[in-house]
Amino acid sequence: MSDVKMWSAKCKKCGETARFQGTREELEAYLDQESFHCNPGHHMELCGPRVYLEVDYDNPGEPEELPTDEQVLADLKTRYRWAGDTKALGEEFEVVGFSFGLCVAVRKATGDKEVLDFMHTPDGTRYYYLP
Ligand SMILES: [Zn+2]
Repeated sequence: MSDVKMWSAKCKKCGETARFQGTREELEAYLDQESFHCNPGHHMELCGPRVYLEVDYDNPGEPEELPTDEQVLADLKTRYRWAGDTKALGEEFEVVGFSFGLCVAVRKATGDKEVLDFMHTPDGTRYYYLP
Protein backbone atom coordinates (compact mmCIF):
# COMPACT_ATOMS: atom_id res chain seq x y z
CA MET A 1 0.00 0.00 0.00
CA SER A 2 1.45 3.31 -0.95
CA ASP A 3 1.20 6.52 1.02
CA VAL A 4 -1.48 9.14 0.68
CA LYS A 5 0.02 12.44 -0.44
CA MET A 6 -1.21 15.85 -1.45
CA TRP A 7 -0.24 16.26 -5.08
CA SER A 8 -0.06 19.60 -6.79
CA ALA A 9 -0.55 20.00 -10.51
CA LYS A 10 -0.38 23.06 -12.67
CA CYS A 11 -3.17 23.38 -15.20
CA LYS A 12 -1.68 24.09 -18.63
CA LYS A 13 -4.86 25.81 -19.77
CA CYS A 14 -5.55 28.34 -17.01
CA GLY A 15 -2.33 28.30 -15.00
CA GLU A 16 -4.09 27.56 -11.73
CA THR A 17 -2.78 24.92 -9.36
CA ALA A 18 -5.08 21.96 -8.82
CA ARG A 19 -4.59 19.66 -5.87
CA PHE A 20 -5.32 15.99 -5.51
CA GLN A 21 -5.09 13.98 -2.35
CA GLY A 22 -4.55 10.24 -2.57
CA THR A 23 -2.03 7.55 -3.30
CA ARG A 24 0.09 7.62 -6.44
CA GLU A 25 -2.16 4.90 -7.87
CA GLU A 26 -5.30 6.95 -7.17
CA LEU A 27 -3.66 9.98 -8.75
CA GLU A 28 -2.89 8.01 -11.92
CA ALA A 29 -6.45 6.66 -12.06
CA TYR A 30 -7.79 10.19 -11.70
CA LEU A 31 -5.53 11.46 -14.49
CA ASP A 32 -6.87 8.74 -16.79
CA GLN A 33 -10.49 9.87 -16.47
CA GLU A 34 -12.19 10.83 -19.71
CA SER A 35 -13.17 14.37 -18.82
CA PHE A 36 -11.70 17.06 -16.68
CA HIS A 37 -13.26 19.69 -14.48
CA CYS A 38 -10.68 22.21 -13.35
CA ASN A 39 -11.86 23.23 -9.88
CA PRO A 40 -9.57 26.25 -9.37
CA GLY A 41 -9.93 27.45 -12.97
CA HIS A 42 -13.64 26.66 -13.42
CA HIS A 43 -13.46 25.09 -16.82
CA MET A 44 -14.79 21.82 -18.14
CA GLU A 45 -12.92 19.77 -20.71
CA LEU A 46 -13.75 16.68 -22.76
CA CYS A 47 -10.20 15.40 -22.52
CA GLY A 48 -8.82 13.76 -19.41
CA PRO A 49 -6.89 15.53 -16.66
CA ARG A 50 -3.62 14.09 -17.97
CA VAL A 51 -3.87 16.35 -21.03
CA TYR A 52 -4.09 19.47 -18.87
CA LEU A 53 -2.34 18.80 -15.60
CA GLU A 54 1.38 18.90 -15.06
CA VAL A 55 1.82 17.02 -11.82
CA ASP A 56 4.72 17.94 -9.60
CA TYR A 57 5.76 14.35 -8.90
CA ASP A 58 8.96 15.32 -7.12
CA ASN A 59 7.40 17.39 -4.35
CA PRO A 60 4.24 15.78 -3.03
CA GLY A 61 2.92 17.42 0.12
CA GLU A 62 1.70 15.78 3.26
CA PRO A 63 -1.98 14.84 3.27
CA GLU A 64 -4.36 17.26 4.89
CA GLU A 65 -7.58 16.66 6.72
CA LEU A 66 -10.13 17.22 4.01
CA PRO A 67 -13.55 18.68 4.69
CA THR A 68 -16.50 16.33 4.50
CA ASP A 69 -19.33 16.90 2.03
CA GLU A 70 -21.45 18.29 4.87
CA GLN A 71 -18.76 20.81 5.80
CA VAL A 72 -18.27 21.89 2.19
CA LEU A 73 -22.01 22.39 1.71
CA ALA A 74 -22.38 24.30 4.99
CA ASP A 75 -19.53 26.58 3.94
CA LEU A 76 -21.05 27.19 0.50
CA LYS A 77 -24.38 28.03 2.09
CA THR A 78 -22.80 30.73 4.23
CA ARG A 79 -20.98 32.28 1.28
CA TYR A 80 -23.55 32.11 -1.51
CA ARG A 81 -27.19 32.94 -2.06
CA TRP A 82 -28.01 29.30 -2.72
CA ALA A 83 -26.10 26.00 -2.63
CA GLY A 84 -27.09 22.39 -3.00
CA ASP A 85 -26.37 19.05 -4.61
CA THR A 86 -27.69 17.81 -7.95
CA LYS A 87 -30.96 16.63 -6.38
CA ALA A 88 -31.57 19.94 -4.61
CA LEU A 89 -30.78 21.75 -7.85
CA GLY A 90 -33.50 19.79 -9.66
CA GLU A 91 -36.03 20.58 -6.94
CA GLU A 92 -35.31 24.30 -6.89
CA PHE A 93 -34.45 24.97 -10.53
CA GLU A 94 -35.34 23.98 -14.06
CA VAL A 95 -31.97 23.44 -15.71
CA VAL A 96 -31.79 25.09 -19.14
CA GLY A 97 -28.31 24.00 -20.05
CA PHE A 98 -24.61 24.27 -19.46
CA SER A 99 -22.21 26.70 -21.03
CA PHE A 100 -18.59 27.52 -20.30
CA GLY A 101 -18.65 25.36 -17.19
CA LEU A 102 -21.63 27.21 -15.74
CA CYS A 103 -25.16 25.96 -15.27
CA VAL A 104 -27.99 28.09 -16.63
CA ALA A 105 -31.27 27.48 -14.82
CA VAL A 106 -34.65 28.99 -14.07
CA ARG A 107 -35.80 29.19 -10.47
CA LYS A 108 -39.11 27.32 -10.34
CA ALA A 109 -40.68 29.50 -7.64
CA THR A 110 -40.01 32.86 -9.29
CA GLY A 111 -39.21 32.14 -12.95
CA ASP A 112 -35.96 34.07 -12.57
CA LYS A 113 -33.11 33.01 -14.79
CA GLU A 114 -29.97 32.31 -12.80
CA VAL A 115 -26.44 31.21 -13.64
CA LEU A 116 -24.98 28.73 -11.19
CA ASP A 117 -21.42 27.70 -10.71
CA PHE A 118 -20.41 24.32 -9.36
CA MET A 119 -17.51 22.55 -7.71
CA HIS A 120 -16.52 19.07 -6.62
CA THR A 121 -15.81 18.10 -3.04
CA PRO A 122 -12.78 15.98 -2.11
CA ASP A 123 -15.18 13.00 -2.14
CA GLY A 124 -16.25 13.83 -5.68
CA THR A 125 -19.73 15.14 -4.93
CA ARG A 126 -20.87 17.97 -7.15
CA TYR A 127 -22.37 21.01 -5.46
CA TYR A 128 -24.00 23.88 -7.30
CA TYR A 129 -24.06 27.38 -5.92
CA LEU A 130 -25.45 30.76 -6.83
CA PRO A 131 -22.87 33.54 -6.59
ZN1 LIG B 1 -7.49 24.95 -15.37
